[in-house]
Amino acid sequence: MKKYKLFHNVCMDCGNKCDRQADRCRSCAAKNNMLKRTYNRPPKEQLIKDLLESKTYLALGAKHNVSNVTARKWCKYYGINKYNVN
Ligand SMILES: [Zn+2]
Repeated sequence: MKKYKLFHNVCMDCGNKCDRQADRCRSCAAKNNMLKRTYNRPPKEQLIKDLLESKTYLALGAKHNVSNVTARKWCKYYGINKYNVN
């Protein structure tokens, strides 16, 4: 009979116990996901400039290699509206 050892991994960020196959606990994984999603967001000034040039979120996204949905989220984050850029 094989002995099956139940053990917990330790979160690489906060050191708390987490799922055996996870690198991070749930809350740290969520934080990490957020970081991943926002790390390449350009600064506001750049985004305004690009939006003026691109005119659409799709073109803006293409310029930054992201989807139009992501481009729209960036603009929303900064409170930029493509109809009201200044
Ligand atoms: Zn953690």
